[in-house]
Amino acid sequence: MTDYAEFHRRSLQDRDAFWAEQAKLIDWHKPFEQVCDYSRPPFAKWFVGGETNLCHNAVDRHLATRADQNALIYVSTETNQERIYSYRELHAEVQRMAATLQSLGVKKGDRVLVYMPMVPEAAFAMLACTRIGALHSVVFGGFASVSLATRIDDAEPTVIVSADAGSRGGKVVPYKPLLDEAIRLADHKPQKVLMVDRGLVAFDRVEGRDEDYASWRECHFKTEVPCEWVEATHPSYTLYTSGTTGKPKGVQRDTGGYAVALAASMEKIYLCKPGETFFSTSDIGWVVGHSYIIYAPLLGGCATIMYEGLPIRPDAAVWWSLVEKYKVTSMFSAPTAVRVLKKQDPAALKKHDLSSLRALFLAGEPLDEPTATWIAEALGKPIIDNYWQTETGWPILSLCNGVEAAKSKFGSPGKAVYGYDVKLLDEHSGEELKGAGQKGVVAIEGPLPPGCMQTVWRDDKRFVNTYWSSVPSRLVYSTFDWGIRDEDGYFFILGRTDDVINVAGHRLGTREIEESISSHPKVAEVAVVGVADNLKGQVAMAFAVLKDPSVIATEADALKLEGEVMKLVDEQLGAVARPARVRFVATLPKTRSGKLLRRAIQAVCEARDPGDLTTIEDPTALQQIRDLITPAA
Ligand code: ATP
Ligand code: MG
Repeated sequence: MTDYAEFHRRSLQDRDAFWAEQAKLIDWHKPFEQVCDYSRPPFAKWFVGGETNLCHNAVDRHLATRADQNALIYVSTETNQERIYSYRELHAEVQRMAATLQSLGVKKGDRVLVYMPMVPEAAFAMLACTRIGALHSVVFGGFASVSLATRIDDAEPTVIVSADAGSRGGKVVPYKPLLDEAIRLADHKPQKVLMVDRGLVAFDRVEGRDEDYASWRECHFKTEVPCEWVEATHPSYTLYTSGTTGKPKGVQRDTGGYAVALAASMEKIYLCKPGETFFSTSDIGWVVGHSYIIYAPLLGGCATIMYEGLPIRPDAAVWWSLVEKYKVTSMFSAPTAVRVLKKQDPAALKKHDLSSLRALFLAGEPLDEPTATWIAEALGKPIIDNYWQTETGWPILSLCNGVEAAKSKFGSPGKAVYGYDVKLLDEHSGEELKGAGQKGVVAIEGPLPPGCMQTVWRDDKRFVNTYWSSVPSRLVYSTFDWGIRDEDGYFFILGRTDDVINVAGHRLGTREIEESISSHPKVAEVAVVGVADNLKGQVAMAFAVLKDPSVIATEADALKLEGEVMKLVDEQLGAVARPARVRFVATLPKTRSGKLLRRAIQAVCEARDPGDLTTIEDPTALQQIRDLITPAA
């Protein structure tokens, strides 16, 4: 496995043998007859004829060897709680939840919507669903009623599992009123709502519909619920994309392929061995939470940390204190969280013993070089950027097999991961760009490897039309990201295809300009968008957040700094990339998963309607930009 190129080649050319070998990492109730059925492209079926169960592989399978080992470590700096569940205890809790769901009428193939904060019961609910062959649809806790209502109508859940409240920065966020309103708005009505009462806030109960989990748990304290063996292709869950580029898409995931892909990724990408501790700082509402808080670490026989709280509360060292305390070996976070830490004192990271940590993995957004360098120096550990999507469920680009880790190139999420036939295509002709340094659309030749989306939930047509029809005369999966590959096979993501800026005929990724601006020592983060311009077609506009906003006291200070930033871009990329304006703001508009909403900024700059904003974190961030560019008359 030292020669990664050969390993990757084999995963594609010897596809079935390669994946049959990986499939040994999980238990099969009935062996599969065919590794991959791609007779009806672009729909791929993995491990056809096989029967397995995700919850069995994540939980029950480990009881013989590691029943007393930590499975789920729950830490909340919001409620000051730490609860540890061994595999044996997790097994018991999941069965209590599974029995409850069954009592409330949930059957194989039914959907259960999970609208929960980061509490262990959310994990139990997810695992309980896959245990009984029901599909979970986790909706990020705290989403507004309207977005929740749309998801209720899409999933048509038999039961909704929820809680009284979440908590953020010490402030209680009541969920129940949002949920009640969402159910009122939705056409579909769930039979039951199962409430986990954390005791954070009082809530109203709807007679005959709302059930109390604590009493059901008592009632099923000793109930055993066997795993329901399902076809490898049986859907395990649906989950929405972040909604950065528009209306979120409902991704449908299978069972067998997902289990195999995640199990393999633990040893080949995330370098975490059975018995070790994995810490992903994501939320269960996102794909990273599904794959790398819940399923992959448990499939791998690891302990997983589920953290409720902010990265800087009680102080900026809180994550690193957990690394020390639980001897975390692999940690997974997002560039946006590192940028939050970057505004703090790097000494906080040095307070703790991080010797157990092998690497920090980051994904979700471009990892700019200054941020990568900052965290690498602060931690003294390898930083591994990986690139993927809700749709794929696990990395498309990364460094694999450990040996490659030493060879990371800052600014690049590495090479094509085994199983992925990644191509760069000319967006107009669909022609493959083979030369180093050519920019194109990042695409994946079918079949998508195990673990990737099966289809759009209840909408095969949308799956084909959205993902497989963008390149003329060719059936290929488009990521809608824009990238470049160097002579060593390392990819660089330059931004979304929607965000490419065309200045007087020059094509520029927003990422390139953002990278350059963020190398200015005073800049913490920045968003660049292309704005329509009569003369040049488009011009770049930049909105930057400063590490220390107090450096700008007057208009003149802002203009001076703007000039400095422009000069920097001129030097690094040339005058063609220079933004028309660089404005300074307190925060940038992001989705709740921490992604920059460039399309919304762009729409505001062009005085258009910003479109679907149901996933926005803080609407005032967009308002601030609106106020800046349309000064009061
Ligand atoms: P939507 O599809 O609803 O518009 P989204 O694309 O943000 O939302 P996600 O699936 O959460 O939904 O995000 C995947 C996208 O995030 C990728 O297509 C890419 O644009 C970006 N991304 C993820 N990881 C990286 C990375 N390491 N480097 C650069 N970009 C990344
Ligand atoms: Mg997307």
